[in-house]
Amino acid sequence: MRHLPTFFDLQSRPVAMIGGTAMALQRTRLLLEAGASVTIFARTLHPELAELVLEGRIRWQAETIEDSDLHEQRLAFIATGNAASDAEAAERVRRAGVAANVADRPELCDFIMPAIVERGEVTVGISTGGASPMLARSLRARVEATLPARLGELVRFASSLRQSARTLIGSATQRRRFWDAVLEGPVAEAVLTGRDETARALADDLLHNESPRGAVYIVGAGPGDPDLLTFRAHRLMQQADIVFYDELVGPEILNYVRRDAERVYVGKIKSHHSKSQDAINELLARHAKAGKRVLRLKGGDPFVFGRGGEELEYLRRESIETVVVPGITAALGCAAATGIPLTHRDYASSVTFLTGHTRDGELATDWRVLARPDQTLVVYMGLSTAGSLAAKLLVAGLPRSTPVAIVERGTRPDQRVTTGILSDLKALAERHKDGGPALLIIGKVAALANADIAGVADQLKEAV
Ligand code: SAH
Repeated sequence: MRHLPTFFDLQSRPVAMIGGTAMALQRTRLLLEAGASVTIFARTLHPELAELVLEGRIRWQAETIEDSDLHEQRLAFIATGNAASDAEAAERVRRAGVAANVADRPELCDFIMPAIVERGEVTVGISTGGASPMLARSLRARVEATLPARLGELVRFASSLRQSARTLIGSATQRRRFWDAVLEGPVAEAVLTGRDETARALADDLLHNESPRGAVYIVGAGPGDPDLLTFRAHRLMQQADIVFYDELVGPEILNYVRRDAERVYVGKIKSHHSKSQDAINELLARHAKAGKRVLRLKGGDPFVFGRGGEELEYLRRESIETVVVPGITAALGCAAATGIPLTHRDYASSVTFLTGHTRDGELATDWRVLARPDQTLVVYMGLSTAGSLAAKLLVAGLPRSTPVAIVERGTRPDQRVTTGILSDLKALAERHKDGGPALLIIGKVAALANADIAGVADQLKEAV
């Protein structure tokens, strides 16, 4: 290890900033955040540094630096914008016995600045030993993605529990188990989603030695591309004890679930209709009651044609802690993946999500409303009923030439897109009959699909 990672307390400590450049401004801001008492040594100042001087937040010395100016400083930062001046300043600082950091000149540094990720009290510093600041930055982006936004709140919450944990839980082993349960389970999750009262109640249970309560997380897994998972979905996948997943959740997504979580496929049960939904509800409740962190993983968004509502209702009635995490629904995923904007100032002022299948099998809806121009229809589970759907829309007055697109396995590497016009929808749907999940997009915007750039202009001319 070339550099020792440390966290330096600079509260009210004197620190020198040599140079008045934009880089000096950036460093000064950071130093002020750390509470340092900053003196700038520079002939000229970046305007925002000048502002800080005027506001009295930093001191400024325009004259040449004397050794006596340096002796009292804890640290010195150098960013003059000129290589020779930088080196000269570094030399002086070092002679005065003060540790120096020179921006972008690792070879002149006594200490270097890490890339920083901050979440309240939690600070992560990343260093490549000065060798590759770009790599440090890209690592920072990865760390950013894994640390929850409200981690600082979790630290505060945990620290508020420390006293009670010490008094109420005698043995060190049990205390360790308590903290594991708090920091990795429903308590932490409640804090991280801003539900402090729930967190308190759950933590109280643990403190008073009641067995940990389980919870169900109804999580949207998005349309298939794992990169489209939310941070929260990802976090809960890493913590689950058991996961119940659907047909639409592919192996690429399941890869992100904690390795030793139990996996239960419930897609089959579902296709046997409503009774089976009861069976799933009961399964979820039973495992949560046994203290498990239950992940209910659903394709797309749980509340868009996903029966998430029915599950939530049931679990609430059973008084089970339940959290719903949204996912990118197929309509949004497919739209982005094919370049079809669902609304467009020229072609569509509204968008309707509908299903080609209902509980009783009837496509019961007011077709005149759906056949109005200048709107987009997105049909889920509509492949097998595409023919009758098109017929109803045509009868209700939608032009035969209305553009349509069928997006199969949207956002996945093997995505397939077919475009055409409404009067051909039935035949177009036939082509996707034995494929993966597919969505119908009906309306002028469908002509904008990447898949058919050449035909766009002609189709729009006819349709508009
Ligand atoms: N809750 C899900 C929808 C479940 S209904 C969501 O929000 O996306 C199942 C239907 O969703 C499928 O029949 C299909 O119409 C659509 N669908 C799901 N994933 C899809 C994908 N990757 N590409 C195209 N359609 C998809």
